[in-house]
Amino acid sequence: MRVDAVLGLQWGDEGKGKVVDLLAAGYPVVARFQGGPNAGHTLYHAGKKVVLHQVPSGIFHPEVLCVIGEGVVLDPEVFWKEVEGLWALGIVPEERLVLSEGLHLILPVHRWVEAVSQEGEKIGTTRRGIGPAYADRYARRGLPLRAIESPSFERQVLGLTAYHAARFPDQPPPEIPEDFWRGVELLRRLPRVRLAEWLPQFSTVLAEGSQGTMLDIFAGTYPYVTASHTTIAGVLAGLMVPPQAIRTVIGITKAYATRVGEGPFPTELDGDLAAWLQEKGGERGSTTGRLRRCGWLDLVALRYAIQINGVTAVALTKADVLCGLPEVRARVGGPDSAPIYESLPGWESLEDSRFEGFVAFLEEALQVPIWGISTGPARADWRERLPLPTS
Ligand code: GDP
Repeated sequence: MRVDAVLGLQWGDEGKGKVVDLLAAGYPVVARFQGGPNAGHTLYHAGKKVVLHQVPSGIFHPEVLCVIGEGVVLDPEVFWKEVEGLWALGIVPEERLVLSEGLHLILPVHRWVEAVSQEGEKIGTTRRGIGPAYADRYARRGLPLRAIESPSFERQVLGLTAYHAARFPDQPPPEIPEDFWRGVELLRRLPRVRLAEWLPQFSTVLAEGSQGTMLDIFAGTYPYVTASHTTIAGVLAGLMVPPQAIRTVIGITKAYATRVGEGPFPTELDGDLAAWLQEKGGERGSTTGRLRRCGWLDLVALRYAIQINGVTAVALTKADVLCGLPEVRARVGGPDSAPIYESLPGWESLEDSRFEGFVAFLEEALQVPIWGISTGPARADWRERLPLPTS
């Protein structure tokens, strides 16, 4: 079994979903390995925009099995709604989904805890209950997916709900909506596997990352991070694969930088240019609708992300957004408080030789081949520069 991974090298929203969708057809399996419905992977299916939160981005390929891995936290209620949305598009995801029996469940109370504690507000989380669900997992009181097989499952859900409700006695108690139970029923009908036994039957697996390296719980800008490992470490743990199985590590970066939520962002822009990037790049969170903070590309952060993930190929996205700027900058050094920039001539179009100059500059600065360029949001908006290194 060989595993190729698609990882975000920035603060998320790099366009991973699109790249996974583009590559998926070449793999028997596409697998999410971490995170939860804080992910919002935007793709286009039959001309329609679809945002996937928990279902892997390979779902539009009938021959591809989509795995939700051990490292994920899954919200049955959100899952139910997402599957309903896919039915409306004529997709029957149940035929293509396989779940790791040890992934953990997000209960309605996890979202409630985030709302009443207001813990996530300082950090700017998506308030989907992901942090509290991982916290319960690590506190060893969470509910793994396999718990749905137990006759006492409902009692366990109510028990954990009561446990958290007791921490906030002044708050109106959390409710468990009908869609949560619908989602649980749906999960009961889906194949659940021991991933370590099941996955190695396949020759190749495409691992789909969520969020980005700079939001990794260890490697990111703590405490302004997500609750899981978004890096290559998350692939190993979340899919239970050995390091020797990792073949290609594809890092995705935009041609500029964005960040949703709070936390350090050394190359952040403000004023007209930031507003122009937000507008032209559609920089609004696909899960939360929040405007994303925008800035210049940060090569210091990118080099770090490439190093810790062992990235072997880079895909560059959204360079089309920068078309028409007279000058484009990239941070090449300096401390976070005083970044040093290199200024490069801007480009009118992605056919422009000045754009090729920018790509050559990036390759030199990053010391990793730029494998492909995404030239727009659709699957067809793609230019492969080199063969993907898969040997
Ligand atoms: P992900 O979470 O990494 O999959 O990224 P998101 O879906 O949150 O955000 C990426 C956004 O950029 C989506 O709206 C994509 O449709 C869009 N997108 C991806 N690649 C490109 C590109 O090369 N150019 C443009 N203009 N948009 C892109």
